[in-house]
Amino acid sequence: MRITCPMCKKITTWEENPWRPFCSERCKLLDLGAWASEEYRIAGKKEESEDETDNTKDT
Ligand SMILES: [Zn+2]
Repeated sequence: MRITCPMCKKITTWEENPWRPFCSERCKLLDLGAWASEEYRIAGKKEESEDETDNTKDT
């Protein structure tokens, strides 16, 4: 079975591929890193904006 790597769009195989659905270890690590940093950014931003909206309400 042939699959497309979701990270670099390269055609790779599902069988005998330890990094599936990615084409290589590099793509797998890149995807995990991107996902983790995005989660942290959203979590930190949410807390910040919640504080700000509360202050501007009372004028
Ligand atoms: Zn790839």
